[in-house]
Amino acid sequence: MKRVLITGAAGFLGSHLCDRFIQEGFYVIGMDNLITGDMRNIEHLMPHPNFEFNHHDVTKYVHIPGELHYILHFASPASPIDYLKIPIQTLKVGAMGTHNLLGLARVKGSRFIIASTSEVYGDPLVHPQNEEYWGHVNPIGPRGCYDEAKRYQEAITMAYHRYHGLETRIVRIFNTYGPRMRLNDGRVLPAFIGQALRGEDLTIFGDGSQTRSFCYVSDLVEGIYRLLMSDYPYPVNVGNPSEITIKEFAEEIIKLTGTNQKVIYKDLPQDDPKQRQPDITKAREILNWEPKVLREEGLRITYDYFKSLPTERLYEESG
Ligand code: NAD
Ligand code: UDP
Repeated sequence: MKRVLITGAAGFLGSHLCDRFIQEGFYVIGMDNLITGDMRNIEHLMPHPNFEFNHHDVTKYVHIPGELHYILHFASPASPIDYLKIPIQTLKVGAMGTHNLLGLARVKGSRFIIASTSEVYGDPLVHPQNEEYWGHVNPIGPRGCYDEAKRYQEAITMAYHRYHGLETRIVRIFNTYGPRMRLNDGRVLPAFIGQALRGEDLTIFGDGSQTRSFCYVSDLVEGIYRLLMSDYPYPVNVGNPSEITIKEFAEEIIKLTGTNQKVIYKDLPQDDPKQRQPDITKAREILNWEPKVLREEGLRITYDYFKSLPTERLYEESG
């Protein structure tokens, strides 16, 4: 049986990846320090004979007994309010965490994939963003702790690939949504749906003309799985090219939830990217992948999930 280590296992994406690898017949070791994660995301896996959970901070030395065929490094705060609150841990998990796990991959001969991000393109001057674009990042701005951690993560991963011949993969993930996002993590979708469910107005930052392109989680997981199983060592964008302004997005959420609330406008956070849309030509050509789930369908499933949570979860404090 192939054994896989998934870091960030109790988080949004990590928990969905654990599900997928269990379904594919792997033995899954989930690792997390729960800094932004939630054990409720993986409690259904705990009794599974092919799953084990390891409560550990990957910035500390990582030890895994036995064979390890794959490592998926997904541990990292991912939402702007999380990484603004814990900027040093964000830098450490991208830098020291990635270094520790690359060392582990070398010792075990594991194939290694990192969760990079569209944030490596910063506030992009090229649109849509393709993998050849080097980005437009403010290293000392508030988002720098995340963007530069991820850029360093890509750099050290390529160095291990080139210098040590390690089998590595880099997925550049664009905004992804779905069940198990934290309602209070500040990302736009849980923010809007949480506001609608609590009967609050929806907060648009800036004038709402900035764009994002939202990918449903099952499409993303499929793209990641295909990239890991491919032989392509360079970065690949995985995301849904369907682009929308945040103002239009708020209108979709208002329609979906049937809320009577209105939108209110707040200041745009510093360095908030003005536009974002993945160019997925590479994913199409190399992985034969493209997203399947339309936003209307994905939003419906996600809304049903949030609605099914106990009411007190709507009021949980962030972080
Ligand atoms: P998340 O916050 O839900 O999950 C991250 C998990 O990592 C959490 O469970 C957290 O406790 C854990 N973690 C953080 N630091 C750790 C450490 N030092 N040791 C062990 N565990 C640690 O976020 P997510 O949305 O699931 O994102 C997962 C990964 O995907 C991140 O690396 C993120 O940068 C990347 N990503 C996500 C998106 C997205 O749209 N969700 C987009 C681009 C990139
Ligand atoms: N945003 C917003 N209202 C909110 C939360 C976010 O208008 O309550 C905006 C945010 O400024 C950004 C977009 O929505 O322009 C996406 O934000 P998110 O934090 O989800 O992701 P990221 O900025 O990392 O793409």
